Amino acid sequence: MNRGNVRVLDKNLVVYLGGGCNSVVLTSIDGKEAIIVDTKWLSSAKRMRNLIKAPKVTIINTHFHMDHSRGNGLYPEAHVVSGEVNWRHWDFDSGKSKRPDRILRTGDKIVLKLDDELIHIWDLGPAHSENDSIVFFEKRKLLVVGDLVVVNQHPVLIDKNTNLSMWRQLLDLIEREIEFDTLVPGHGPLSDKAEVLTMKRYFAAASAVASDSTKFGIEKQNFQMYSSFPVFGSFRRTISFMRREIEK
Ligand SMILES: [Zn+2]
Repeated sequence: MNRGNVRVLDKNLVVYLGGGCNSVVLTSIDGKEAIIVDTKWLSSAKRMRNLIKAPKVTIINTHFHMDHSRGNGLYPEAHVVSGEVNWRHWDFDSGKSKRPDRILRTGDKIVLKLDDELIHIWDLGPAHSENDSIVFFEKRKLLVVGDLVVVNQHPVLIDKNTNLSMWRQLLDLIEREIEFDTLVPGHGPLSDKAEVLTMKRYFAAASAVASDSTKFGIEKQNFQMYSSFPVFGSFRRTISFMRREIEK
């Protein structure tokens, strides 16, 4: 793990940025338990695995996409919490790692406790993926949103269940309902509530172009600093997904 990508927010909570996705690890005061939100993939998953010493591990996956779940297999004994999806998709993306022990359904809200921290998990249903959950560390006012928010980059639209209109509604809900100071996006640097507003503006811009293509040039300019992802993440792709939903 590149040291620059490890953010120690306090004695017990560390954010590992990048290497697939951003991950959060909360370790109990006695060092015996850890809660991991999203496990990365490939060599970054292994590097993070080597840094986690707690014998008892709970994994929360914000969603099943492989850059967030492929590392699960490195923790065969872990208790896994994640949303219900087509299990063939789960098997493929997670590299056939164990299916969740605790399966959440759209609308479910559960709370885990570790020392004096309450960890709220909300299953919000299909938006970026087939089923997206967010995780709120109440005492720390830290919110992990998976890929519902990405920073300085175009969202990767890869899932045929992507539902942009629901995604935009969920951003409204996150902005309205949750009092948080720190935002851990799925990809990109740590941020705060302002980034939820930026993501909303991004979708509003894509939506404006979807209904009036003459606005493409001007709207694109506002996001020209964003990095794109080969084939699956660009302003054009977001607009075409937007258009498909409008035409439905
Ligand atoms: Zn994703």
